[in-house]
Amino acid sequence: MTVPPTWSTQQLAEFLAAVSVAPDYACAARLAVERAAEALEVEIAAIVRDGAVEAAIGFPEGSVPEAELVAAVDHPVLALPGVGACRTATAPFDDRRGAWLVVGRIGQEGFTAEELVLARSMARVIGLTERGLRVLENERALREASERQTALLGRLGEIQRAIVRRNDREQVLDSIVQALSELTGHDTAFLRLVDPADESSTVMIASRGIAPELLEDIRHAPVGMGASGTAIAEDRTVLVEDYGADSRSNPASARHGVKTALAAPVRRQGAVVGALVIGTYDAANALTDEHREVLEALAENASIALTDAAMVDAAFHQAFHDSLTGLPNRAAFLDRLDHALAIAERSDAEVGVLFLDLDRFKTVNDSLGHAAGDELLVAVGERLSSCLRDGDTPARFGGDEFAVLLEGVSGSEEAEAVAARVLDAMRRPFTVQGRDLIVSASVGISTATTRSADVLRDADLAMYRAKTGGRDRLAVFEPEMHEALVERLELESDLRAALDRDEFVVHYQPIVHLATGEILGAEALVRWDHPTRGMVQPGGFIPLAEETLLIVPIGRRVLRAACEQAVHWLKRHGELTMSVNLSAAQLSQPDLVQDVRDALRDSGLPARHLTLEITETVLMGDDEATMQRLRELKELGVRLAVDDFGTGYSSLQYLRDFPLDVLKVAKSFVDGIADEAQGVALARAIVELGESCQLDVVGEGIELTEQREGLLELGCRLGQGFLFARPADPKTIDALLAERRASGGAELPEPRPTRHGDPV
Ligand code: C2E
Ligand code: MG
Ligand code: MG
Repeated sequence: MTVPPTWSTQQLAEFLAAVSVAPDYACAARLAVERAAEALEVEIAAIVRDGAVEAAIGFPEGSVPEAELVAAVDHPVLALPGVGACRTATAPFDDRRGAWLVVGRIGQEGFTAEELVLARSMARVIGLTERGLRVLENERALREASERQTALLGRLGEIQRAIVRRNDREQVLDSIVQALSELTGHDTAFLRLVDPADESSTVMIASRGIAPELLEDIRHAPVGMGASGTAIAEDRTVLVEDYGADSRSNPASARHGVKTALAAPVRRQGAVVGALVIGTYDAANALTDEHREVLEALAENASIALTDAAMVDAAFHQAFHDSLTGLPNRAAFLDRLDHALAIAERSDAEVGVLFLDLDRFKTVNDSLGHAAGDELLVAVGERLSSCLRDGDTPARFGGDEFAVLLEGVSGSEEAEAVAARVLDAMRRPFTVQGRDLIVSASVGISTATTRSADVLRDADLAMYRAKTGGRDRLAVFEPEMHEALVERLELESDLRAALDRDEFVVHYQPIVHLATGEILGAEALVRWDHPTRGMVQPGGFIPLAEETLLIVPIGRRVLRAACEQAVHWLKRHGELTMSVNLSAAQLSQPDLVQDVRDALRDSGLPARHLTLEITETVLMGDDEATMQRLRELKELGVRLAVDDFGTGYSSLQYLRDFPLDVLKVAKSFVDGIADEAQGVALARAIVELGESCQLDVVGEGIELTEQREGLLELGCRLGQGFLFARPADPKTIDALLAERRASGGAELPEPRPTRHGDPV
C-alpha cells in the first residue's frame, strides 16, 4: 500500500513546483512569499536579506514595514504597523544566514513544529532556487556579453570588408556610426571630421538619433568644443559625465538635454582628423567600459577607412592626372569624354573636343633646356584653364599636346569661339626663366553627338591640318581630312618600301655662268622612280619624308650618289661644284657631319667641290646644336648656300653672323624682274645684299631671257633654270657637260660685262 504524503511534504512539493517556474530570482521571491503565506495560512510573509526586504506579502502596496520585518529575525512577537501584533517565524535560506524567509500570523497563535519545519524547508528551496537562478542569470549575462562581442566582431568584419572593397567612403563611415548606435544602444551616435577648408572647425559626417532641430545647430562645431571637439583637440578618448555642467560641453547639446558623452579620436594616416561619439539623454544610461571598447574599436575602423581612402585618392589622382601640370591626363579625359558623349546621346547638345599643340615647343626645349620647357608647359596649362568655362575639362596628353573637352555645346561655332579665345591667350608672351617667350598654338576642333564618333581622333586630325596650314590657327574637322590621313599613311609605308627597293634616283640641274651659259656646277635633285606612278617630283614626297624623318636615309643616299657623280664629272669635264640640299630634319641629326665626312672620303671628292644648300628657316631657328653642326661642316671645307633666299624670315642677321658662301635668290624674285618695276628693285636689293656680304649670288628658276638679262644687269653672275637646262638624269647632263665645255658655252647672247671677273 502506498503511504499518503503528509501535509507538509504535499505543501513543499507544490511550493517547489510553483517557485521553480520563475524565470528569474525577483519573480521567484515574489512567488515564494505568496505560496508560503498560502501553505502556512499566515497573513504576512517576506524575504529579508542583509537588512532589506526583497519581497513581501500582506501589506498594502508601498507600505512594507522594512525595519520591523528585518527585526523579526530576532523577535518572535512583533507589533506591525497597520496589522497589529503578530507572531513570527523566521527561517534562513542556508547556513550562511544572510537571507531569511519571515512569516507572521496575526494574533496570539504560534507555529506548530511541523509548520516550522515546513517554513525552514521552504526557505531552503528558495535558497536553492535562487542559487540556480543566479547561475542561469550569470550565464545569460555572459552569453549576452559574448553575443555582443560576436556582434561587434561581425560588424567590424563587415566594415573592414567594405573598406577593402573600396566601397563609397561616406557609406563606410555611415555604416560605422550605424554599428556604433546598434552595438551600444545609446541615444545618439555620430562622427565629426575636421573641415578641410577650415581646420579650426568640424563637420558632422554621419549621425544616428539626433533630433533634426539639434542636428542643424551642431552640424558645425569648433575644434575643442564638446566631447568630440575635445577628443580631436587632445587626441584621446574623452568622457563628459555631467554634460549640463561641464565647461567643455557644446551649449546647444546641453540645452537639448544631453547628459553624458563619450568621444574617441579618428585619424587619417596617423593624424587626428575627427571623432566618433556616443551620447545619452538619460544619466542612468551609464557609459560602461564595454561601450568604450566598442567606441574605440569602431573609431579605429573609421581611421582605417579614412587612411585607405586617402591612399586611394592619392593613387587615383596619380592615375588620372598629369604630374607636371596637375591637369587631367589622357585616361581621365577619355573617361569624361565617354561620359559626356553618353549624356549627349540622350539630349540635343553636342560634345566638342579641342586638340591643341604648341607651335614652338621643341625649340624652347632644345634651346633653353627641359626645365624651361616644363615651366612653359605648366604656364600653358594654367592659361588654358583660365580661358575655359567651369564645366569644360582641360587635359594634358603628354609632350606639348593638350586637349579640352567642351560639354553641352550647340555646335562647332561655339567650340570655334572657345578655340579662338585659347589661341588668343597662347599668343600673349609667356615668362619663362625670366624671359618672354612667344609660343603660338595650333588647334583642331571636332564635335560629336554620339559615342560611336571618334571625336578625339578627328580633333587631332584637324589640329594636324591647322599645323600644316601654317600654325597659330584653328581648323575644324572635315571628313576628307580622314581620307587625306589614310593617303598619307599609305604614302608613308610606300616611302619606306621605296627605300628598301632603292627607288630613289638623283637628277641634276646645271648651274651656269649667266653671261656665257658655261656649266659651273650642278644641283642634285632627288626623284622617286615609282613602279606605278612614274617619276615622282620632290614636292610629292619630301614634306612627308621630312616629317617622318625618312629624309635622313634618303638624303644620305642622294649625298653619296652626288659625290660619286661629281668625282666622275670632275675627271671627265674638269672643275665644277656639286650642290646637295639638306633639310632641317637632316641638320638636326647628330650623325650628319659624320655622314658628309664619310661621303667625301668614300667618293674621294675634295670638300671644296661640295656645296650644301640649306633653307633660311634652318638658319633662323636658334637651335644651338644645328648651328654647331653647320660650323663643323664648314670646317670640313664644304661650301654653304642659302637656298630660296627671301622666302623665309626677314631678319638678315645670319648673313653676317654665319660663314656662308652662296646665296640662291628664290624663283619668286627672279619672276618679279620681268614683271614689274618693284620686282626689279627687290631683286636688286637681294643681289646687292649678297654681293656686299661677299657671297656668290645664284638666280633660281630662270625661264626667260629677260630674267637672265635682268639678273645680269643687277650684277648677278650665276643662275639656274629651265632656260639653260631642266633637271635631268646623269647621262643627259653628262652629254650636256661634254657639249657645253667643248663649245665653251651655250648658244647665248653676247656676255655683258659683270662686276666680277672669273666664275667660281
Ligand atoms: P630647290 O632646292 O630650290 O630646287 C630647285 C627647284 O626648282 C627644283 O625643283 C627644280 O626642278 C626647280 N626649277 C629649276 N629651274 C626651274 C625653272 O626654270 N622653273 C621652275 N618652275 N622650276 C625650276 P624640284 O626638283 O621639284 O625640287 C623641289 C625642292 O625639293 C628643292 O627645291 C629642294 O628644296 C627639295 N629637294 C630636292 N631634292 C632634294 C634632296 O635630295 N634633299 C632634300 N633635302 N631636298 C631636296
Ligand atoms: Mg636647292
Ligand atoms: Mg631653291
